[in-house]
Amino acid sequence: MIRTTTPAALAEARAALEGHVGLVPTMGALHDGHLSLIDVARRAGARRIVVSVFVNPTQFDRADDLAAYPRDLDADAAALADAGVDLLYAPDAAAMYPDGFATSVTVDGVSARWEGVHRPGHFAGVATVVTKLINQTRPDIAVFGEKDWQQLALIRRCAADLDLTARIVAGPTIRAADGVALASRNAGLTAAQRALAPTLHQALRAVAAGADPAAEADSLLRNGFASVDYLALVDAATLEPVDPAARVEKRVLGAAWLGAVRLIDNVAA
Ligand code: AMP
Repeated sequence: MIRTTTPAALAEARAALEGHVGLVPTMGALHDGHLSLIDVARRAGARRIVVSVFVNPTQFDRADDLAAYPRDLDADAAALADAGVDLLYAPDAAAMYPDGFATSVTVDGVSARWEGVHRPGHFAGVATVVTKLINQTRPDIAVFGEKDWQQLALIRRCAADLDLTARIVAGPTIRAADGVALASRNAGLTAAQRALAPTLHQALRAVAAGADPAAEADSLLRNGFASVDYLALVDAATLEPVDPAARVEKRVLGAAWLGAVRLIDNVAA
């Protein structure tokens, strides 16, 4: 596996990759959910895999959250080499945002609600960095997890609107046996909090089966969640709230806090 840390070195290494190239962007602290996207890329036709590991400062709305985000590049590199990844791109912030950097990609509509409300500036950071990573890597496909459903919708919109040449491919959410979606942030849960974590997934499934979102949010609070940012039945494409009877593809989105750890998840409805 080749390792690069600058856009110029990436471009050179990328040029040497022959055949269909898949990009899997990540923020590292890799788990089986991330690694599953490598298989998704292969199944979608990628012969060569590029994984980026970049904890993107511009998508964090709080400095303490950025500072506390888990990082373990050596372990990530070992896991990626094991998984047969061809190229690891792990730039630092100065390589991605050199002095004078002044551009931001904002995506209206899908950014308006949910994460967009609770994490101001987050989606502009995501859209900008994903645009850069795709332009830097020039992959045939770029793979993202359904785990971050609103982010996936945003990236699809951004790629279509800005004529990004990569095809956007989605991978299903990988869960622990008790239903908890794998997430780098889960490492920050205490054992007691981890034991409570499945109730978020259970609440999402209950709403998908017809339960009232407000009642499910109350039940999470009663069970020990510190707060619930949102729990909502939405149109899977527009992310606007919908009536359970609406004849559109629907999704239940939720984000809630267990202590200082924010869990985010979603299920089909
Ligand atoms: P992150 O490192 O959290 O920015 O995630 C990088 C990519 O992995 C994003 O496309 C996420 O949606 C995806 N991802 C994170 N967790 C999971 C999971 N449990 N299952 C599938 N994909 C995931």
